Amino acid sequence: PDPLGVHLRAMGIGGGFVAVEAADVTESHRLARVRRDFVANVSHELKTPIGALQLLAEALLDATEPAGADVPDLSEDLVAARRFAERIQHESTRLGRLVQELLELTRLQGAEPQPPPEPVTVEWVFAEVLDRTRTSAAARRVDVQVEAEPGLTVHGSDTQLATAVANLVENAINYSAEETVVRVVACAADDDIRIAVTDQGIGIAPNDVDRIFERFYRADQARSRSTGGTGLGLAIVKHIASNHGGRVEVSSTLGGGSTFTLRLPARPPEDLAATLSSAGI
Ligand code: ADP
Repeated sequence: PDPLGVHLRAMGIGGGFVAVEAADVTESHRLARVRRDFVANVSHELKTPIGALQLLAEALLDATEPAGADVPDLSEDLVAARRFAERIQHESTRLGRLVQELLELTRLQGAEPQPPPEPVTVEWVFAEVLDRTRTSAAARRVDVQVEAEPGLTVHGSDTQLATAVANLVENAINYSAEETVVRVVACAADDDIRIAVTDQGIGIAPNDVDRIFERFYRADQARSRSTGGTGLGLAIVKHIASNHGGRVEVSSTLGGGSTFTLRLPARPPEDLAATLSSAGI
């Protein structure tokens, strides 16, 4: 029995072709799910050994730390050992971030159920973003200025929304010169809430603009690597935007700075979960 085929034939649609196509779609959904589960499982398994590496490097640094300022200089070997331990710590932290973001991305792609949407104030999102980006901003002496119309509210997951804006602000900081300004402005326009992050940084070439939201795509390999990023930040922003029924846009001039704008629906969708599942998210 083939209820779909019978139904389609009853509608006068050439059964064979449509049925084959339906089977292909089912198969490709299944493969996409297998791939997501695989990435999620591998990432999860990697978290424990990476955490152990970080702790071991820390223990090595603690154990070889000079006891006081007046202690005689460390031997050359010990200095080298400390340098290697610092490197292990740095690289394992980076690996940890990569795994964390891979997990986050697979979660957003639907490997796990989404939390039910809740009202989230833009004020809360901005406070959270400032908190999360404080260290990077201080390290580069970048002044992050936020400004929001009072009373703006969006609907969805508070942590995901904060992650999306924080990723944009992190990038704005990383791809700018020191002592510049990053502006984060929220306003209501048409039926959207718009959150725009503007930097005075290096900008993006026109032929890279369309590709930077792809996983691991980097416009400037050398620069991007040295920022310690994973190449997943914007892919995550894009998924969060679409999971919230919105989108992210960029306007940029090479050498002249960039503006990334997150556009989110101002009103809660009737049933966000239904909208998302019918969109296959
Ligand atoms: P990464 O971890 O490399 O920053 P992202 O996905 O966040 O990964 O960004 C992808 C690429 O887009 C970056 O490597 C960089 O080349 C470019 N990019 C992102 N944000 C900016 C920005 N504000 N200014 C200039 N280039 C940017």
